[in-house]
Formats: sequence, C-alpha cells, structure tokens
Amino acid sequence: MSAPTRRPDRPTAGTFGVSTGRRTAYLVVLVVVPQVALVAAVAALWGRGIGPRDLVIAAVMYAVSIFGISVGYHRLLTHRAFRCRRPLRIALTVAGGLALQGPASLWAAEHRRHHKYADRPGDPHSPWAYGESGPALLRGLLHAHVGWFYTARRRSDRRHWVPDLLADPDIRRLDALYPVTVAASFLLPAAAGGLWSGSWAGLWSALFWGGLVRYAVVHHVTWSVNSVAHTFGDRAFDTRDRSSDVWWVALLTFGEGWHNWHHADPTCARHGVRRGQLDPSARLIRMFERAGWAHDVRWPDPRRMAARRTRAADDGPEPGEAEP
Ligand SMILES: [Zn+2]
Ligand SMILES: [Zn+2]
Repeated sequence: MSAPTRRPDRPTAGTFGVSTGRRTAYLVVLVVVPQVALVAAVAALWGRGIGPRDLVIAAVMYAVSIFGISVGYHRLLTHRAFRCRRPLRIALTVAGGLALQGPASLWAAEHRRHHKYADRPGDPHSPWAYGESGPALLRGLLHAHVGWFYTARRRSDRRHWVPDLLADPDIRRLDALYPVTVAASFLLPAAAGGLWSGSWAGLWSALFWGGLVRYAVVHHVTWSVNSVAHTFGDRAFDTRDRSSDVWWVALLTFGEGWHNWHHADPTCARHGVRRGQLDPSARLIRMFERAGWAHDVRWPDPRRMAARRTRAADDGPEPGEAEP
C-alpha cells in the first residue's frame, strides 16, 4: 500500500491555483445549499411526507441525473468506455449536467487526475489524505466526500487532462451552456409539477422535491463513491489504491459503487463484474449497443480479470497500468 500523504494539495502537473472566491462559490453550491435542502426535506417529511406526484417527478429526475453522471460524464466522456452516436452523446452530457456537478470537461479533468494518483499524493479527493489513524481517517472521509471542494487550492487544468473533450465542439458548446442546464435542472421538475397538478402549489412542491432535494441526494450519493468506496468494502481485484465494492453505494449510483474493478480497468464499460453485482449503467449501455446507438463498447476482458483477481486480504501494491 502506498504511503498516505498529509498534503492533499500537493502541486502536481496539470493543476492551477484557485481563488478564495471560487472556492467559496463551490462551498455554497456543492456543500451548503444541498445541506439546507436536506434539512428542509426532513422537516417537510416530518409534517406530511411526500405525495405520489412529487415522488414520481423526483425519481425520474434522480434516474436521469445518476445515469447522466454514470453513463455520460463518467463512462463515456471521462473513460471512453464506449463510443456512440452524436445525439446520444449530447443527450448523455446534458443528463450529466442536470446532476449539477459542474460542466462535463471540469468533472472529467478532476476525475482523470483522481485515477492517475488514486489514494496517493495528487489525488484530489482521497479519504486517506491525512493518514490512517481514526481521527485522520474521519477527517479524510469528510475531505473525500465534500471537504475538497473548498479546501483544494489547486484544481485540474483542463488543457492538460481533457484535451480530447476541449477539442470536441459539442462538449465545448454544452460546457458554455452549462448555466442553462442548471436552470433546466430546476425548471423541468417545476414545470412537470405545475402542469400535472394544474396549480402553483404543485409547481412549488415539485421544484422542492424534484429540484432541490433530488440535487442534494444525487450529490451525496455520488460523493459516496469517492469517500465510502475508497475506505470500506470488498476488494477482489489488485489495484494500486484502496478502491472497493460497496453494495449500497452501487445500488444508489446504478453500479458506480462497484469501484474496485473500475480502478483495476478504468476503461471497462461494466463496473459490477462479479457474480450478483447488478450494474444498471452497464445494462443501459448494452441496450444502446443493441439499438445500434453505441459501438466499440469495452466489455470486461476475462484474462485481465483473472490476472487482477486477488483475495481481499492480499492488498499488495501492483505495478499495473490503471490509468484513465
Ligand atoms: Zn475512485
Ligand atoms: Zn473513473
């Protein structure tokens, strides 16, 4: 196991400093507002629960956001696990944007850096950044979950990490239109609620549940991959990091919580490769492939899997090539 770093901000190639103003904006949008939404949701649930209309709207928005991140931002754009037709590529990128985790190229740049340095100095969000003792790990978990949005004084330079995405006119356009996607992420559920109920009250409650609360839940579910699935759980494959499989994270993220194989073979379109590991994102990619919309899908290679398989206790370092 590589030695933990106590300097999560260590300058590495392809990073640049960010201003306090920008870090504060990240803090408000990515940490504070979702917390307030969750507290408000608990208070609302306490009183009268959530109605079936809002539940349906929130569930649809949740599914679109999570698949957008998992299949679009992560497997398609960051790792190029498959190729697809232009309309689908655009649709998946827009769906990822609806999760409100930043423009696609920014997300992919941070994530490619995560893979290159996973759980080593240079990783933007390792739970092991502060050491292995109880308090250090607790601090690291908080850092990996949300803390790094504010504490990280260096961010990934897109020209270094995602030149392929910057060279794609569609991605550049969608990045520039990201504020419109953000607005749509709230207006869509609000409009659905208003039209369905035919009332302003229906519009506001759908905006709350399908917009605000859904965005908070999607964030915490996604961040759990960075925190929980690098700390707890099963490790059936040899990797240079501490990526692991956590069933409940996989359930909530539609397959992303099967994180150990993902670090063993980042370009693989399927993350849940062991028996019983349900991976709805891989199933969706398979559906796209069957429909003729996706091609060159990188399905698991049995030889690579056999070579990487290990016992959970056998966590030795491995000079593998787990690069994005
Ligand atoms: Zn990871
Ligand atoms: Zn990844």
